[in-house]
Amino acid sequence: MLKYAVLTWGCQMNERDSEILAGILEALGYREAEDPRDADVVLLNSCCVRASAERKVLAKLREVLGWKRRRPEMIVGLCGCLPRRPGGAEELKKWRGLDLLVGPGNLGDLPALLERCRREDVPVVALDPEERLTEGLPQLRRHPWKAWVTITRGCDNWCSYCVVPHVRGRHQSRDPQAIIQEVQDLVKRGYREVCLLGQNVNAYGRDLEPGVDFSWLLRRLDRIDGLLRIRYTTSHPRDFSPEMVETIASCHKVCEHFHLPLQSGSDRILRLMNRGYTQEQYIRLCEIIRREVPGASITTDIMVGFPGETEDDFRETLYVVRTVQFEAAFTFMYSPRPGTRAAAMQHQLPREVKLARLQELIAVQKEITERRNQALVGSVVEVIPDGPSRKDPHLLQGRTRTDKVVVFAGKLEMVGHPVSVLIRQAGTWALRGTLWEGVGG
Ligand code: SAH
Ligand code: SF4
Repeated sequence: MLKYAVLTWGCQMNERDSEILAGILEALGYREAEDPRDADVVLLNSCCVRASAERKVLAKLREVLGWKRRRPEMIVGLCGCLPRRPGGAEELKKWRGLDLLVGPGNLGDLPALLERCRREDVPVVALDPEERLTEGLPQLRRHPWKAWVTITRGCDNWCSYCVVPHVRGRHQSRDPQAIIQEVQDLVKRGYREVCLLGQNVNAYGRDLEPGVDFSWLLRRLDRIDGLLRIRYTTSHPRDFSPEMVETIASCHKVCEHFHLPLQSGSDRILRLMNRGYTQEQYIRLCEIIRREVPGASITTDIMVGFPGETEDDFRETLYVVRTVQFEAAFTFMYSPRPGTRAAAMQHQLPREVKLARLQELIAVQKEITERRNQALVGSVVEVIPDGPSRKDPHLLQGRTRTDKVVVFAGKLEMVGHPVSVLIRQAGTWALRGTLWEGVGG
């Protein structure tokens, strides 16, 4: 029997695309290799959002091509974003032994491409500029009760630092009936939580008939019996209307968690980034959320060291961090991406400056995260356990509606079912608690 391995880097979109790649291979009769070194087909589903992501992918590619030297019949494919970024395919074609380059718009072509790999010896390349919606493709879901559901593909925002619009093409919304049907089918099969995926989910429906927008979709999905939680990622602060906040407040299944990438707190830098909001508008949106959705958590992405970022600009970012009091932040050093506008801007900052700002930002946020977690000690929260804790397999680990990790003692039968947990202890990474009066929810 032929075996495969799909290795994944990057965002949830890529995780989801890997479920489709694995599903297609399973439909072709392949089975997942226990050890990827034994696989007949190895696909690396890559990310190119930062240079560091690319380096990790290429280090793995080198290793995989090393396996192939011992087993020359192995087919090695590089999928996803890296081969689509400006200059990416040209660089990859130099790697001897790489058989296949497949862009995010060509997932469905995989069976035909594998066939061609067996006949032709040059690398087989399928890198369409536009993504195609992936209706009807086979898929292998990785989680027993949580599912990713794509609602948009591509991105039209053209943030000046970002390579995503270059690699994934224009924004396209999926047909609402297809989404509703998919969620209904998932619930029938025992799924309890869905995470709606898109680069800018708030723009859902902009390219569809009037009346169909993100709020409409949330309200519609909220009515599906048996579904417990609805999450979504990523939302764009510019397109997060007060009406959407109201919708989320009134939809019981939609979780009280808002991930709102700030990127920078400086109006000057936000303008150069083409983000379309000001510091004041961002802070006001967070105030509306805190007022309308009690107990909500707000998390963010922040980048330091954008070209020309001064110490004062960076202070503005810290000001927003302290004002909003994020639950958590993903923090990055700006990384110039080939083909983007920001990469061609003057005043690129040295790595030391970026690193010093990153460390300061992380320290400020760490204190805030700890304080906010500490404030939860003594409260009772709803947790759906995912499974045994990674650090201590005798304990269970799950997430709150606000997306916090909670570790507690419980039985394996509780996995996938909501329980009430009394929080007793708080750390930066997770909360610890004990079951509160058995099974709740
Ligand atoms: N569509 C999503 C995800 C984009 S990529 C969004 O708009 O939020 C995820 C995060 O990576 C971004 O929020 C940003 O903070 C970071 N990022 C994107 N391009 C980057 C770059 N060139 N250098 C450093 N970080 C980057
Ligand atoms: Fe990139 Fe901006 Fe689109 Fe996010 S919204 S994927 S940061 S261009």
